[in-house]
Amino acid sequence: MLPQEIIRKKRDGAPLTRDEVREFISGLTNNTISEGQVAAFAMAVFFKGMSGEEAVGLTLAMRDSGTVLTWDMPGPVVDKHSTGGIGDNISLMLAPMLAACGCFVPMISGRGLGHTGGTLDKLDSIPGYTTQPDLVLFRKVVREAGCAIIGQTADLAPADKRLYGIRDVTATVESVPLITASILSKKLAAGLQHLVMDVKIGSGAFMAKHEDAVMLAKSLVSVANGAGLKTTAFITDMDEPLASAAGNAVEVLHALEFLKGRLINRRVEAVTLALGAELLLSAGIASTLEDGAKQLAATITSGRAAEHFAKMTALLGGPKDFMERPDHYMKSAKIIRPVYAGDEGAVCKIETRQLGLAVIELGGGRLRADDKIDHAVGLSNLLGKNFRADMNTPLCMIHAQDETSFDRAAKIVKAAYGIGDVVKETPPVIERITA
Ligand code: URA
Repeated sequence: MLPQEIIRKKRDGAPLTRDEVREFISGLTNNTISEGQVAAFAMAVFFKGMSGEEAVGLTLAMRDSGTVLTWDMPGPVVDKHSTGGIGDNISLMLAPMLAACGCFVPMISGRGLGHTGGTLDKLDSIPGYTTQPDLVLFRKVVREAGCAIIGQTADLAPADKRLYGIRDVTATVESVPLITASILSKKLAAGLQHLVMDVKIGSGAFMAKHEDAVMLAKSLVSVANGAGLKTTAFITDMDEPLASAAGNAVEVLHALEFLKGRLINRRVEAVTLALGAELLLSAGIASTLEDGAKQLAATITSGRAAEHFAKMTALLGGPKDFMERPDHYMKSAKIIRPVYAGDEGAVCKIETRQLGLAVIELGGGRLRADDKIDHAVGLSNLLGKNFRADMNTPLCMIHAQDETSFDRAAKIVKAAYGIGDVVKETPPVIERITA
């Protein structure tokens, strides 16, 4: 069928067959379909939506637009994916924890854009660590370290690369079937057997409203399972930063402290264990969610998760003694200084998104995909909700390279924090969505 006929059919609200979707995605991948036609298709899907069956067809067609990895490992191949947030460094801890439980985690992550951070940018703050290994090295690291966190390669789901680029400039990103197919085509191309999705809600999230996040989570779970990938999703809170750090090097250091069992952060721990336990249960390594959480916690106390992280880092070119001497390797900012609240009271509100924008102001995030970033800057020791703040208790430490960016970030941070009365606690894990 001509591409314009496929677009017309979708525009008029008729369901597309798998063959029609596949034909369109094939033309999109080999550039025989023009940018205008791709944009019109995306807009038609934006307005008319897709049935579950169509979304599965779109996801599978996009998966098959490039290489689809297969793994022959002595354990389950699993991954987690987050829709992105502030201080969301869970991947850095969860991948080695799962590896220490006998899973294999080929984690393909992204860079940060806008107010949310990206796992790859965090790892780029480790000198020597390559986030773009060839397939041979990627496979070796997954096999030997149990986990490898790397960047998207050009040959995995190339249809998504072109489609996403066009959606980005045609106001068609916010479409549930398109987001679903975009995320899952890459996960399916990575050859996973089990997936857990972390869909964030709140001020720092991609989907700020609860009903939108639930709709996306349900779509991800049903399409992934329909495409043969066992998947569960969690809705988790982003109305305050997850870790007490936001930036790149600062979040890696935070993760290392967690892996070494030195950092007590109940919110980070709750989300990490919930996501991980779900995967261990799905993969048959744990008999219940409680058993899974226990196994994961034991990887911290035994030091095994830290060993897996150290091995992954060294195999990917990072320092061999990185775990022992991270401060020796990580660049630090010229100014590391506190910012104080203007009032006295409890932290009752945090505009999480603004904290992400403060990191961009410092140079640690990007507004455009080709912006360069400074890995050393960011925010650490962020106060969480209900902590008391006054003139002597910093809201956070700002890591800046100069006084001007420090002042700008300090202004944003102060405005982002509401100080007043103690508020009702929001649990970090809000909802579990299963097939
Ligand atoms: N992340 C993706 O990978 N794709 C989308 O469409 C949105 C978020």
